[in-house]
Amino acid sequence: MKTKKELNKDILETTANIQENYPELTKFADEMTVTIPAVEDPQINEATLSDYNNSLQTIVAGYAQNSQNAKKNIVIIGAGFAGLKLARTLNNHPNYHITLIDKNNYHQFQPLFYQVAMANLDASNISFPLRNIFQKSKNVTIRVTEVTSIEASINMVFTTNGNFSYDYLVIATGAVTNYFGNAAIEQYSYPMKNTWEALQIRNTLLTHFETAITANSLKVQQLLSIVIVGGGPTGVELSGALAEMKTDTLPLEYPELNFAEMKIYLLEGSAKLLGAMTAASSAKARDYLEDLGVTVMLNTMVKEYNGRQLLLQDGNILESTFVIWAAGVIGNVPQGISPEFVSKSSQIPTDAFHKVIGLNNVYALGDVALMASDQYPKGYPQLASVAIDQAVNLSNNFLCLPKNKPLIPFEYTNKGTMATVGRNKAVVDLAKPFVSFHGFFAWLIWMTLHLFLLIGFKNRVIVFINWIYKYLTHQQSLALLFPNLHSKNKT
Ligand SMILES: Cc1cc2nc3c(=O)[nH]c(=O)nc-3n(C[C@H](O)[C@H](O)[C@H](O)COP(=O)(O)OP(=O)(O)OC[C@H]3O[C@@H](n4cnc5c(N)ncnc54)[C@H](O)[C@@H]3O)c2cc1C
Repeated sequence: MKTKKELNKDILETTANIQENYPELTKFADEMTVTIPAVEDPQINEATLSDYNNSLQTIVAGYAQNSQNAKKNIVIIGAGFAGLKLARTLNNHPNYHITLIDKNNYHQFQPLFYQVAMANLDASNISFPLRNIFQKSKNVTIRVTEVTSIEASINMVFTTNGNFSYDYLVIATGAVTNYFGNAAIEQYSYPMKNTWEALQIRNTLLTHFETAITANSLKVQQLLSIVIVGGGPTGVELSGALAEMKTDTLPLEYPELNFAEMKIYLLEGSAKLLGAMTAASSAKARDYLEDLGVTVMLNTMVKEYNGRQLLLQDGNILESTFVIWAAGVIGNVPQGISPEFVSKSSQIPTDAFHKVIGLNNVYALGDVALMASDQYPKGYPQLASVAIDQAVNLSNNFLCLPKNKPLIPFEYTNKGTMATVGRNKAVVDLAKPFVSFHGFFAWLIWMTLHLFLLIGFKNRVIVFINWIYKYLTHQQSLALLFPNLHSKNKT
């Protein structure tokens, strides 16, 4: 039998617990027979105290159970590979309501940006409207707005169009172009990190050809000299597609121009192209590009660019008004995440369960997340496959939570890497078995995989038809000029 003092203490503890953890419990006030005492009350006898205590405990327990069963609110920032996959895997789940926020109303398939930039595909072929994907969803709400900041201490996300509270927050904001702090390069070169930028590249390219028709020879040299900085998959794929365009389509569409004067440079700071691939694949990609007429410059660092001249670290200068910057990305961390939770690579360190280290109920996935493991001490590669696999793992863990099942740590199975250079020309490194191959078969695999990953049956069919048409005719031009997509540098 508890003493009056002990019961009083119990009640005060329960009250403190209610106030801290269940502030909404005030709505149950009518169900209580007495008001919760704020301090020890000598007027209350043992029997009343015991009743109060029991009554409070029952209500708290019931409420705790209710709130556990109630739908939790997950806010996902970013409908890229990670955010979209997470929302799709939790679609119509009874325990969760999802708010999927993106500044665009569509999902972008970044691996095929270069084909949009080179006028081989339409932007709509590789974009998918988010509302269309979740048309029949009962628990996913789409919000097209830009997140301006996060306030983790009060579980809030602020955007340009409304604020959102969450039980769980998932940051999947991807990465942005890394200019390594060089403002001039940022100002004058062309990145390719979203659909708009891919279209801007296409527009600038076409504007250059139109202008070159009536320009003097020095200017023609500048206009027809295109420099791509960064010898990763994006740089390799872009320069390969541009080289094919130079021989296939451009001479027919611009008979006034002499395309022998067109120069395509691919600059890479390290000693090999496709740094993540095997030496054999890297060398093969270089051979392919050089056969197509691309000037590949390895161990070449860019120092400055003023919109006309590109100054290299070794003092050499390349004349060009069109430099495409594909030299790297950094994590896109939303405002409000304190710098102590952000790595030097501008990523958000997480544990193996995707939880942001140091924050409660906040998770990070994909390119913006830095999850170090024994296998990848510097974090997993910034790839679509990693983003998708992480989203699937987090979604499985969200399913474990309501059942109090143990959470599953993330494990990445590297299936391999690949890149394409052009028609019948691709390189593939498989992880298991560890083999590299290239040529037509590699190119078929590259195409099949990319078709498979595209969202939407219609998009797959259209892209497939486009590819077949181009393969058979060597012609493909969606060369529409949009006046509002201005060039950065004066032509
Ligand atoms: C040109 C190019 C080619 C690539 N090719 C390949 C390839 O062949 N294979 C491969 O595996 N990977 C490739 N990648 C990498 C791959 O695209 C990324 O690893 C992948 O997109 C990462 O997915 P994510 O969900 O983390 O971010 P993303 O897919 O980048 O999605 C981030 C989303 O967040 C949204 N967002 C960002 N900030 C905000 C904000 N403040 N408010 C609201 N919304 C916001 C963006 O609009 C975007 O939709 C390529 C990347 C590029 C740029």
